[in-house]
Amino acid sequence: MLLDSPAVERLIEAFRRLPGVGKRSAERYALHLLGAPDEDAAALSDAVREARARIAKCSVCRNLTESDPCRICTDERRDRGVICVVEQPSGAMAIEKGGAYRGLYHVLHGALNPLEGIGPDELEFDRLSRRLEDASVTEVIAATNATAEGEATAMYLLRQLGRDGVKVTRIAHGVPMGGGLEFTDEVTLAHAIEGRKNM
Ligand code: ZN
Repeated sequence: MLLDSPAVERLIEAFRRLPGVGKRSAERYALHLLGAPDEDAAALSDAVREARARIAKCSVCRNLTESDPCRICTDERRDRGVICVVEQPSGAMAIEKGGAYRGLYHVLHGALNPLEGIGPDELEFDRLSRRLEDASVTEVIAATNATAEGEATAMYLLRQLGRDGVKVTRIAHGVPMGGGLEFTDEVTLAHAIEGRKNM
């Protein structure tokens, strides 16, 4: 134990739950905040609380947004015929940064993982099916991660949606195996979408 304090241990533990933060970094962040001026520490906790209070899931695409429906769903200039399905908001954000994709998104908030008890009902598939009742949607891009779970999710999309006459495509190679979209650079990601193939 770093300090004989359960409160500090809880703070370290909270940092460790963040993606990519190991024990050492978590301890460093905690000690930094304990030594920082009161207002700095307060600014961090206020920013977390305020962002959480303002941000919700878009009622259409389930991406995180401050206004509902989100900026992308309401943008008349976007191509309403194409929906890019991603696992997490970070994936949509990564593709948006590339700037080349002009369609809409759908965020599943996870990938199929039967071993962890995550089936279709735990993800945002229902809402996606309802969006596809709108006949103007002609293509769904499976932009799930290049992991076993991401591939299984893409296959599920193909089986579920392919029969409704919607074209299901998969983003091309270049997204490293095992990698999440958020770790793929913008140019590679733009090419991956550009070079998508029928499943
Ligand atoms: Zn939206």
